[in-house]
Amino acid sequence: MRKKIVAGNWKMNMTVAEAGALVSGLKLELSNFREVEVVVCPPFTALASVSQALQGTNMDLGAQNMHWEKSGAYTGEVSPEMLRELFCHYVILGHSERRTYFGETDEIVNRKTKAALAWGLHPIVCVGETLAQREAGEVEQVITTQVRGSLAGLSAREILDTVIAYEPVWAIGTGKTATSAQAQDVHALIRKVLAGMFDEAVAQGVRIQYGGSVKPANAKELFSMPDIDGGLIGGAALKADSFVAIVKAAV
Ligand code: PEP
Repeated sequence: MRKKIVAGNWKMNMTVAEAGALVSGLKLELSNFREVEVVVCPPFTALASVSQALQGTNMDLGAQNMHWEKSGAYTGEVSPEMLRELFCHYVILGHSERRTYFGETDEIVNRKTKAALAWGLHPIVCVGETLAQREAGEVEQVITTQVRGSLAGLSAREILDTVIAYEPVWAIGTGKTATSAQAQDVHALIRKVLAGMFDEAVAQGVRIQYGGSVKPANAKELFSMPDIDGGLIGGAALKADSFVAIVKAAV
């Protein structure tokens, strides 16, 4: 049985003060919540304070990106060791905004994924097609290439420690959600690709989240699909009431 996982990607939002207020709201409802794994991913500047605030709760901390090296002359970057020191358990890698605005390729995402795993972090590896790719009938090819490239060279143990997030680019922050059937089709495809890379049992064990304009109103239907194991939530993770409602929809 795969435990559902719902993660909030706060993106470049939330000062330390705002993050504190949001976590206080989440703690009221989710501190002892065990049915679903809950992860919050603040910006780097709020990781330390949110980490402290989450102590003693059942929620986990995640980062939104990292470099693959332990340390060195990489101005502006943050290392896996630094994330571990703050008790991060997860790190989002290869989000479409990183791929689009910061030139991250499957090869870069793969390096980061391997580094995260080597440091004991669980990567949340994002894949997803653009609207043009979907309209051109390229979903299968794009997703297969991203999954194979981003996860190349992982062992079975490592892929089971990894979460995959299917996030159609056209659905992120746009208010357009994939239908539950469209999302399920791609999740099943990802599992088929994993079965080819590993085996069927491993493919069945990997958690695959859906992301893209998930809201309290559509979460339950998406999360009830057989291959959808929770969500990666952007906009709706910035308010305690909507994030809590989405987490509860995963039960
Ligand atoms: C995301 O940033 O990963 C995301 C899915 O955003 P939103 O929920 O706002 O579409």
